[in-house]
Amino acid sequence: MLRIRPHHVLCMRAYSGNGYSEEFKAKMKNIINEIKAYNKFLQVDNLKKEMNEVELVFHTDSICEKCPNKLDENLCSSQDKVKLLDLKVAKHFNLKEGFYNYSELEDLVYNNITEDIFDDICKECEWYGVTNCKDYIITK
Ligand code: SF4
Repeated sequence: MLRIRPHHVLCMRAYSGNGYSEEFKAKMKNIINEIKAYNKFLQVDNLKKEMNEVELVFHTDSICEKCPNKLDENLCSSQDKVKLLDLKVAKHFNLKEGFYNYSELEDLVYNNITEDIFDDICKECEWYGVTNCKDYIITK
């Protein structure tokens, strides 16, 4: 089963072809397609309402497997920053570690996100202001 860390729920929706490496981008695309995460750029939508169970984890996840910043299990070269992103997503949307149907997880986040919440979570991310994540996240 795929493991997903909280802030990657946002990154999957905002993914628009950018990434740390070709391997990382391929991994991201595969996971978005596998769990049918809504993504406008890749034109993925869970129209058939498939139940895709994932494990929400507060450490390195299945997407991190191909990230060049992953140094070891639960060790990232931007550890403090990504941990803070996860903590903020968990706090804003009341998420706990455990098992979720991915589309329910999306509902918990996207039925409640606002521009202020997005800015609070993402403003420290290196991609903030580089990619147009906000446009993908705030308007479906
Ligand atoms: S700004 Fe960073 S953390 Fe936020 S959605 Fe974009 S890539 Fe993900």
